[in-house]
Amino acid sequence: MISVEKALKTILVHFRPLGLETVNILEARARIIGENIVAPRNIPSAANSAMDGYAVCHADVKNLPATLKIIEDIPAGKIARKKVNRGEAARIMTGAVIPRGADTVIRQEDTQKDGKTVIIFAGAKKGDNIRLAGEDVRKGEKVIRKGDILRPAHIGMLAALGRTSVSVYRKPRVAILSTGDELVDIKTNPGPGKIVNSNSYSLAAQVMECGAAPVMLGIARDKRSDLEKKFRQALRADVIISSGGVSVGDFDFVKNIMGEIGNAMHFWQVAMRPGKPLAFGAIEGVPLFGLPGNPVSAMVSFEQFVRPALLKMLGHKKIFRQTIRAVCADTFEKKAGFRHFIRAVVRAENGRYVATITGDQGSGILKSMVAANGLIVMEEDRTRIKKGEPVTVQLLDDSPSWSEFLRL
Ligand code: AMP
Ligand code: MG
Repeated sequence: MISVEKALKTILVHFRPLGLETVNILEARARIIGENIVAPRNIPSAANSAMDGYAVCHADVKNLPATLKIIEDIPAGKIARKKVNRGEAARIMTGAVIPRGADTVIRQEDTQKDGKTVIIFAGAKKGDNIRLAGEDVRKGEKVIRKGDILRPAHIGMLAALGRTSVSVYRKPRVAILSTGDELVDIKTNPGPGKIVNSNSYSLAAQVMECGAAPVMLGIARDKRSDLEKKFRQALRADVIISSGGVSVGDFDFVKNIMGEIGNAMHFWQVAMRPGKPLAFGAIEGVPLFGLPGNPVSAMVSFEQFVRPALLKMLGHKKIFRQTIRAVCADTFEKKAGFRHFIRAVVRAENGRYVATITGDQGSGILKSMVAANGLIVMEEDRTRIKKGEPVTVQLLDDSPSWSEFLRL
């Protein structure tokens, strides 16, 4: 049996970013960019008005009020035909290019139109209300760096620079296989002694949450021939995840299959709860995570080991969940030796985070995960958390609603 740290270290050595692919910019959202983006042009391309108002010569509005002759109307998207000379003004809309001769825009609110003239009441500094060419982005400027996560603002920037597609790290295809004679498909009513295969779905959703692509291989029976057939199908994927068939009683199913098809078995069993019977190896060079069958164990092991590996393949630099310090609202006891991941809900309360344990912590109690937004990491040597004591919590949810929730 090895420690969580050692297991993670052993696993991560076997993963590196996959190759790049070119995708439409909207498909690139939340992915890692595989190229530097250097602006091929200025944004904005020309000086334009930041306001609806009048483009004037600053020298004309030093003494107020000033009366100027309106020489033309410049809507957004149209280029002025005339030059603005001293004593003249051009009516201009937000975004329209500043006409030659003008150096300042006076806001509409500070003027009054009177037939073919306009009276200016309030002054402005030279250059006021003008957005300069290249004020957002200069031609030649590096605006997005290889390795950045493409958030909505990045997608907008790519569009502004005229990019319809972009290079990103390829998504790993992750084969998901559940093992067990007791399992039935989601559409089947489970009879006595049978349970629905829920692991394939929670794991597939976790894979998708990482930004990778699950490949559902269904259920393999606890029989060598069936397992071998399914594992062979899985070899087309970049990573294989199986659940079940790794506990002491039935470990041989997965282990022997790995041996049979020419494998490397790196370790089995990690000093953690839930999730102790985790196997990690490879079949014909394809990494295989043999996760425990219990629904919570499978999900928690995925969080600790599979997620960082997939994020590494996807080119992420930050591959671990954010952790916070919180005050525990409950008392919890365990024996020394194992690291525990206790399901908890974290709330912001009176300027600090409070973590409340989500009831029964049995590794088959999926409800404890449904309620949780974090995992309390109870260290190997710690045997007791007393109510009110500080704990470290891994946050399971990065969604915006969650960060809103956390604001103190
Ligand atoms: P195992 O690791 O194969 O001994 O499985 C341990 C327990 O986890 C089984 O007794 C089932 O109750 C449960 N289990 C295994 N596989 C699944 C699955 N795919 N979906 C839901 N529960 C499962
Ligand atoms: Mg089993």
